[in-house]
Amino acid sequence: MESALTARDRVGVQDFVLLENFTSEAAFIENLRKRFKENLIYTYIGSVLVSVNPYKELEIYSKQHMERYRGVSFYEVSPHLYAIADNSYRSLRMERKDQCILISGESGAGKTEATKKILQYYAVTCPASQQVETVKDRLLQSNPVLEAFGNAKTLRNDNSKFVPGAPVGGHILNYLLEKSRVVHQNHGERNFHIFYQLLEGGEEDLLRRLGLEKSPQQYHYLVKDLLSIVASVLHLGNVQFAADEQGNAQVTTENQIKYLARLLAVEGSVLRDSLIHKKIIAKGEELISPLNLEQAAYARDALAKAIYGRTFSWLVNKVNKSLAYKVDEPFVFLTYILGLLDIYGFEVFQHNSFEQFCINYCNEKLQQLFIELTLKSEQEEYESEGIAWEPVQYFNNKIICDLVEEKFKGIISILDEECLRPGDATDTTFLEKLEETVKNHPHFLTHKLADQKTRKSLGREEFRLLHYAGEVTYSVAGKCVHHLGFSYSLLLPSPVLLIKTASLDTTQFKNSLSKLMEILMSKEPSYIRCIKPNDAKQADRFDEVLIRHQVKYLGLMENLRVRRAGFAYRRKYEVFLQRYKSLCPETWPTWDGRPHDGVAVLVKHLGYKPEEYKMGRTKIFIRFPKTLFATEDALEVRKQSLVLMLILQTCPSAFNAPNCPLIFYVNSPFTLAVSGSSWGPRDDSVGRDLCRWCWLTSIFFFPPPIRFIKGFIYRNYPRCPENEYFLDYIRFSFLMNLKRNLPKNVLDKSWPTPPPSLCEASQLLRQLCMQNMVWSYCKRISPEWKQQVRDKLANLHYLPDYSDSLENKSRFSAVE
Ligand code: ADP
Repeated sequence: MESALTARDRVGVQDFVLLENFTSEAAFIENLRKRFKENLIYTYIGSVLVSVNPYKELEIYSKQHMERYRGVSFYEVSPHLYAIADNSYRSLRMERKDQCILISGESGAGKTEATKKILQYYAVTCPASQQVETVKDRLLQSNPVLEAFGNAKTLRNDNSKFVPGAPVGGHILNYLLEKSRVVHQNHGERNFHIFYQLLEGGEEDLLRRLGLEKSPQQYHYLVKDLLSIVASVLHLGNVQFAADEQGNAQVTTENQIKYLARLLAVEGSVLRDSLIHKKIIAKGEELISPLNLEQAAYARDALAKAIYGRTFSWLVNKVNKSLAYKVDEPFVFLTYILGLLDIYGFEVFQHNSFEQFCINYCNEKLQQLFIELTLKSEQEEYESEGIAWEPVQYFNNKIICDLVEEKFKGIISILDEECLRPGDATDTTFLEKLEETVKNHPHFLTHKLADQKTRKSLGREEFRLLHYAGEVTYSVAGKCVHHLGFSYSLLLPSPVLLIKTASLDTTQFKNSLSKLMEILMSKEPSYIRCIKPNDAKQADRFDEVLIRHQVKYLGLMENLRVRRAGFAYRRKYEVFLQRYKSLCPETWPTWDGRPHDGVAVLVKHLGYKPEEYKMGRTKIFIRFPKTLFATEDALEVRKQSLVLMLILQTCPSAFNAPNCPLIFYVNSPFTLAVSGSSWGPRDDSVGRDLCRWCWLTSIFFFPPPIRFIKGFIYRNYPRCPENEYFLDYIRFSFLMNLKRNLPKNVLDKSWPTPPPSLCEASQLLRQLCMQNMVWSYCKRISPEWKQQVRDKLANLHYLPDYSDSLENKSRFSAVE
């Protein structure tokens, strides 16, 4: 990170903890914007990576990039997914701790892409045996299949939801598949990709057998049994009902049912028998007949979801079997896990159903874990370094998690209870029960509980939760309808139909979530927080409102606040000393004592104030970013001087060149020594020795950028690709040098020598500067003094009133 800190003026800060105004959301977003504009899509908050989807290909994922991050300390390179990936992998190997990389964000924020890129990074950089190579290949190959089944187009993105964790060794966990998409999509959304792939890509024969419409495109890659199931879900969606005289549901789409029975008949099982098909149909019709229209439709949808969910689990199991990393039993304890978890972020739509309730609850839990673990690791670090820990105030969202999940009193418990109790449980009774049980909770509201004003924004079938990220209003409609579950196993010869008054999805979700939390708690987590810059999937478009919303919902400001509660920056003594030792004559070129003592000498030399830093056991802690920036500035100046030395040495004619950029001679202990001496170019042995020594050390510590040297050689040519970097650099350096060394008063005639391309500008600036000084000078002249000057200059017969005009002011200076 440090190496790129130098360019911070142009690209904001690479780590939000270095934001001076770290509590300001506007400053946070501005930093994101600045970097995004420069295609810098990654920024840290401490060890958390914030990523903004560029919606365009960036040249930052090549093999060379991967190599650059391999085995390199997290802070030495600019922020990247690869840094997080590499760090996790090294912790896994060196500290022997299981790892989990948690990737979260809205649909379309780039989670899947990030997961893939991390997998590719491991595939390229991790050493592997033949066995692991095979696993890696299979893992990458299984991705499209799992994506087809697990991804759907949502309103915000074409490519969303399901998300497996995919460790290198090879096991995929199937979390939180959004099954409701099988039967319902909001306007503008699509179902899981596999359905379209089947329809558009299925062969004529296959489609005819499946009873599906043919599409012109050819596509073929899955086993047919699996496709039969997929097709059955499509047919199930077309099953329609009509009410008979008693209001009971009757199937009106016989053909669909026939296809269904045939498709669900597993090859080789008794279900192939057409007689059994008929029996199943009859049994199904019998079971449907006591249901009314609404219940029958609900049962149909529940069955479709169940079939799809189970199919997906079956698929994941199959993939896992092929990925299983076979370790000899006695060595099982030597294997560690690195998990990648790609999980959808907080969601708020106009109409928020049960699905959003689950997703948001999950995010609420993740946020809790996230803040707790961040605080915990901060606190642990302070303790291990012997630095006093000051408690950090933060919003603890346990109160909201409890509201959702607490036994007997939580929303899920109440839903379970209401769905399972005998009698007429309805959505309304559920809401009433909720009101009764949690009415006084500060994060819960319903139409009935709300005051007059708020009531207008709440329907009678809704309740509102005040999440950590903001308010969300959920509809209870359909939550408590008695579910008609269909227990169907791909391996069972006959489907068993059972009526279940189940809060099936809730329980499944809760189980998934508690499994997830268990996993996260037992591993060392790393975080990637993905942000979608606009809804139009366009490159270079930064929609501030949308981004602010995500910053809020990802809890990034709270995370930054917690991370910045103490010290903005910390580094191991060795690392700090290695980087900045050239700034102090006592530590440069080498420090023989303990790194701790070297850093103590160094910071004293740099003039750090006691309140600006603390010395821990192994690290220095710097409280404010500005202290670090000042040190970085000093280092930058120092580097420039060393580069200049190199140029002088490697290109002797440079020394006589009139355009030699003397502007590099600026304050640093070393350059002062050079510019302060009467050192001549080639005939002064002290200078030559110094130069040679500098050349050697600079080559060693700061290899010079080749384009800089090239630029120097071409500096007198018209602007061309070879010299443009150098010319810009010279200009920038001249202006910076000028800023620092402006003449102090009208008598001070010093002015840095400009590079040729800035001669004219320099002349104009000089005039302006002089006029400015004269003007301030004139303003300070008292009337008496003015009179004295007039008298003194009386023999000139003419003395204008110098305070009149700018022109006169400069003339006054000439007279002086
Ligand atoms: P999510 O999984 O969060 O829903 P995706 O990872 O599928 O989002 O990203 C949506 C789209 O954005 C991708 O299909 C891709 O076109 C683009 N995208 C995401 N991340 C990147 C990236 N790092 N570089 C280029 N394009 C990206």
